[in-house]
Amino acid sequence: MPAKILSGKEIADAIKREVAAEVKTLEKDYEFRPCLAVVRVGENAASAVYVGNKVKTSEELRIISEHHHLAAETSHEELLKLVENLNNRAEVDGILVQLPLPSHINEKEILEKINAEKDVDGFNPVNVGRLAQGQNALAPCTPAGVIEILKRSDIKIAGEHAVIVGRSNIVGKPMAMLLLQENATVTICHSRTKNLAEIASQADILIAAIGKAGFIRGEHIKRGATVIDIGINNFSDTETAREFFDETELEKRLKTIEKRGFTLVGDVNPREALEKAGNFTPVPGGVGLLTVAMLMRNTVDAAKQRRKINLPQRTQS
Ligand code: NAP
Repeated sequence: MPAKILSGKEIADAIKREVAAEVKTLEKDYEFRPCLAVVRVGENAASAVYVGNKVKTSEELRIISEHHHLAAETSHEELLKLVENLNNRAEVDGILVQLPLPSHINEKEILEKINAEKDVDGFNPVNVGRLAQGQNALAPCTPAGVIEILKRSDIKIAGEHAVIVGRSNIVGKPMAMLLLQENATVTICHSRTKNLAEIASQADILIAAIGKAGFIRGEHIKRGATVIDIGINNFSDTETAREFFDETELEKRLKTIEKRGFTLVGDVNPREALEKAGNFTPVPGGVGLLTVAMLMRNTVDAAKQRRKINLPQRTQS
């Protein structure tokens, strides 16, 4: 039986509805709307699309959105000054500096400067430390979105063996911390791991965050496992595409490559995952959609925490 597809869209939409309801309550009962400031430096095309989505979604949910677009030659000091200014403004609840930054800017120092209470990306070392200690923290959006997919799809986490391939600060490592918090037994693999396929194929939950199109194959997947594909890769190799997709999907993908020059492919070979896994997140349409929804949630959570507001428990839909 082919794997069940875990749709990111339904879950992201449910989270956005919950966030919108909370914004409405904050507006009605506390007379403010949460405010997210997004900072972009330079002209990276992918960053422009990501920031555009974040601004658009904020507006849809009635979160106030500020977009600071600075020129590529902006100095490190100028950017620090902007972050400081946003830190000091009481009405700003969340600050997000879109990565990557131009190479003359010290990314680490900028992320450390963002007030931990407003750090809606969860990259500030204070939030990283809090997360590692199992304390209440603003968690990075993509791995937090994966936890939402698992929970809302009724996939058991506690006691299960989760294998993460990838150990980046923004995805792999926080993913491991979040799964530990949910009582999974966690293994992290990376480019120096020996016998990767042997380890991955023991996973009940296999999570790929590598950045290599179709890297995870059938041999890495235990039959019936849940496979979460975090990878997003621009892919244009029409020959290899034949190994990734069945006839109907292949036709669509080849058309997309012809029209746009590429199609989006994850880190998992979808054809082999569909044959072997029990559950599978597609690319596009899977984890990627959760990232912005979780950013909106983090913004509202940051607003409530800073302003010491307790709203009733959210209901999952
Ligand atoms: P990254 O910083 O480049 O990290 C990649 C990780 O994969 C590293 O830990 C690396 O190991 C490991 N790796 C690379 N080649 C490997 C191999 N042959 N065998 C085993 N491990 C290997 O990438 P990232 O930022 O974590 O992103 C990973 C993927 O997720 C990318 O496709 C990215 O586009 C996607 N992503 C998606 C979202 C979303 O919203 N869905 C958000 C963020 C990222 P080493 O540490 O040993 O080098």
